[in-house]
Amino acid sequence: MSVSYTEINEILSRWAANDPPIEDFTVENVLSTLNISNDRYEDVLRFLMNKEGFELVPLKMLLCPENHKGKTFHLNDPINEEEIYDCWCGEEDYYNPDNVVLVFNFTDDFKSDALKKKMNIRRPMKVG
Ligand SMILES: [Zn+2]
Repeated sequence: MSVSYTEINEILSRWAANDPPIEDFTVENVLSTLNISNDRYEDVLRFLMNKEGFELVPLKMLLCPENHKGKTFHLNDPINEEEIYDCWCGEEDYYNPDNVVLVFNFTDDFKSDALKKKMNIRRPMKVG
């Protein structure tokens, strides 16, 4: 099955222009939204990682044992265990290196660009 990178770019623009913007999304979110087979995980991952610093900010996110979203850290930063707080569900001290997921946020540049494009599409065409 082929992967449409154009469609991935379109979905990213839509998510970035969402109000509020969709944040902390995973490679799996992209795969399932576009019905892409999990076999292509690595390709989509590499495609997203190439946008690092320009359109996307990859982060590692800690999950509590109930899989609630927790604190995020930049991919290259060490996880500072002093910055980990208890989860809202009551789980305390939940850091587990096996329960860390890769998530992506949008850069401010990409968000404002996506918003601008969205406004342009909505603006009625000038006549005459
Ligand atoms: Zn929790």
